[in-house]
Amino acid sequence: MLNVAVRSLEAISESALLDAEVLLCLALDTTRSSLRAWPDKLIPSDQQQRFLALLKDRQQGTPIAYISGVREFWSRDFDVTPDVLIPRPDTELLVELSLNLIPLNQALNILDLGTGSGNIAITLAAERPASHVSASDSSSSALRIAERNAMKHDISNIQFYLSDWFASIPSGSFTLVVSNPPYIAENDAHLQQGDLRFEPYSALCAMENGLSAIRILADNARHYLEPDGHLLIEHGYDQQQSVTSIFEECHYKNIKTFTDLSGQPRVTYGQKPGSN
Ligand code: GLN
Repeated sequence: MLNVAVRSLEAISESALLDAEVLLCLALDTTRSSLRAWPDKLIPSDQQQRFLALLKDRQQGTPIAYISGVREFWSRDFDVTPDVLIPRPDTELLVELSLNLIPLNQALNILDLGTGSGNIAITLAAERPASHVSASDSSSSALRIAERNAMKHDISNIQFYLSDWFASIPSGSFTLVVSNPPYIAENDAHLQQGDLRFEPYSALCAMENGLSAIRILADNARHYLEPDGHLLIEHGYDQQQSVTSIFEECHYKNIKTFTDLSGQPRVTYGQKPGSN
């Protein structure tokens, strides 16, 4: 049964075996290691039907994370639905850079804009429990998922805001502002491929060749950052120069771009000028 399923997924997935195993585990309510330990175990027919239904969703392209309802990020499981972007390994770079800027025991204020499933904000709140994290999204259905994830991980040093970028964020002074905003150009061919076809358009795409949200963020963040505060924004592999120019226009200092695990420029850093 598994082999037939794997073959049926090969045309649409680069990880057909893993996908089929994950779906079978969901249908059987078991783990991959016990699946491997008892490969010949007979499957009752109601569970076979369940597996076939899940397989059909996947054959039609539905991302595994939306079928299973979870995706791991920085070693924690996050609930996901089609209301939120699926957390990606690339974004762990943003978290790693953020953690390097925030000392463990200091009570600092962090702001995450466009939080989606809450993966960035919740990870930072969990790893830096003395800090206070504010997180916003313009989608109330996304915020519901983020709040659910905060409860799931027992996070209390976080506050959520329904906000169009900075619009409803109370004025304050943040040590760090982070965001993984929409940055794909509206005519980008990748949007017609793979998981991206199923993810929320507003979380993926931005006007001005994908740069409009990044421009809003960089322009406004300086009014919310404390002197010498830090801004970190994730962007597309081909946007390093444009994002650097935007940061320069907004007078950030020490601008630097960092590469992700596949060697692509992925996150740009800027620091608000000090008070003197
Ligand atoms: N990094 C994602 C991708 O290119 C897009 C996520 C985003 O727009 N923030 O698949």
